[in-house]
Amino acid sequence: MYDYDLFVIGAGSGGVASSRRATPYGARAAICENSRVGGTCVIRGCIPKKLFSYAAHVPEEIRDARNFGWTIGNATFNWATLVDNTAKEVDRLNGIYENMLRDAGVELIRGQGKLVDPHTVAVGDQKVTAETILIATGAWPAMPDIPGIEYAVTSNEIFTLEALPKRMVIVGGGYIAVEFACIFNALGTEVTEVIRADNVLRGFDTDIRLHLEAEMEREGIDIRRRTQVSEIIKHSDCLLVKCVDGSHIETDVVMYATGRAPNTRGIGLTEAGVELRENGAVIVDSGSRTNVPNIYAVGDCTDRKNLTPVAITEGRALVETLYNNNPMTVDYDHIPSAVFSNPPVGTVGLTEVEAKKRYGEITIFRSTFRPLKNTVSGNTGRTMMKLLVAKESDLVVGCHMVGPDAPEIVQMVAIAMNCGATKKQFDATIGAHPTAGEEFMIMYKPFEPIE
Ligand code: NDP
Repeated sequence: MYDYDLFVIGAGSGGVASSRRATPYGARAAICENSRVGGTCVIRGCIPKKLFSYAAHVPEEIRDARNFGWTIGNATFNWATLVDNTAKEVDRLNGIYENMLRDAGVELIRGQGKLVDPHTVAVGDQKVTAETILIATGAWPAMPDIPGIEYAVTSNEIFTLEALPKRMVIVGGGYIAVEFACIFNALGTEVTEVIRADNVLRGFDTDIRLHLEAEMEREGIDIRRRTQVSEIIKHSDCLLVKCVDGSHIETDVVMYATGRAPNTRGIGLTEAGVELRENGAVIVDSGSRTNVPNIYAVGDCTDRKNLTPVAITEGRALVETLYNNNPMTVDYDHIPSAVFSNPPVGTVGLTEVEAKKRYGEITIFRSTFRPLKNTVSGNTGRTMMKLLVAKESDLVVGCHMVGPDAPEIVQMVAIAMNCGATKKQFDATIGAHPTAGEEFMIMYKPFEPIE
């Protein structure tokens, strides 16, 4: 009756995962994409960002090497090499994603998909019909409408800047702003980060926010708090960033990282009767279904938990439910997340404030220390680790870390928390020594804040 069982609009992490998992269950699937296959994460997000972050850790390694006996000659950095090699890796991954679709028998149609009615999508001149339609169109950088905003770049353009800027202003205090502030600062750019709040990383545990900020400032990032950019003026030799507090900053590049908006306009959603939130996010139920029974949505376009592995899990759950007679929903608790700042952040579970709200009495374990490597290297960076335990049940309900390898360590703690581990079970686990991660197993003295 229809051309396909499943038609997906958007070939990013969520869309690709859903379509290629549907075909082995016998579904006929197609996907359309108006940009490169792979989506934000692969093409202009997580992957190139992490490669840039590796580059940004090299200067610290070189500095640290000296006290370990190494003499490293004049190390120099070539921006074009990093840009080119990152682009090559992105091309390779883009090819892998396209092959995955082809090998799974998912038809890839190039072009922007637009709903004509609940069962019909137009892609250019072509019209296709499907029993089920999945919206997986992701999100796009959102910037405030201020004079001169056209001179600013976003994370979309940052991987292809022609040269490493000497000076850079980064606006915003979220994941993207913090990560790029650390990357460019380490690569040698003079970075000023303008945040409208008191601290970076709204929504994260306060100790993470404070500890990371101190580390960022120690590394030389100029954080301007409680202010906003009112105007960007282009001069022949620089950009002038004016702030509402009357201050101004001369710079070479202005990068905005002030959040991302669901990419849901112009694809016929409202015309097809699909309800959107005020910010454009597709409204879905716990099974990712919209108010139109055969239309579903996963990933950032639904603005639930905007992370790649979440989009993939939402897509997988949907396919299991629809095509494998195995109803699944996504558990949004205990999703770890990482900020690839310098030092990096890893976090899973509740913040201290959330834990107190949900569990009443909690025990806080917190440790700040100089990592072993830094004793000899002379690096003054410090690590912060924090565990939150619900007093009554002894359940570990929050785990937060700022320091080398934090994302890798916290990722593993997430498994324990997902299994409902108690503090007693953490204590009974013997650590691998000497590691930073073992600290989570030997925290015995509750932290009592000095009022
Ligand atoms: P976030 O929502 O994390 O942060 C937006 C930041 O911009 C906040 O600091 C906010 O300030 C500020 N802001 C918003 N509007 C304005 C404005 N008009 N003027 C000045 N400041 C403003 O967005 P990001 O763009 O950093 O990231 C988008 C999403 O991408 C994240 O939610 C995350 O899910 C995902 N992501 C995940 C990564 C990871 O897992 N490592 C890495 C990168 C992105 P305030 O705090 O005051 O509200």
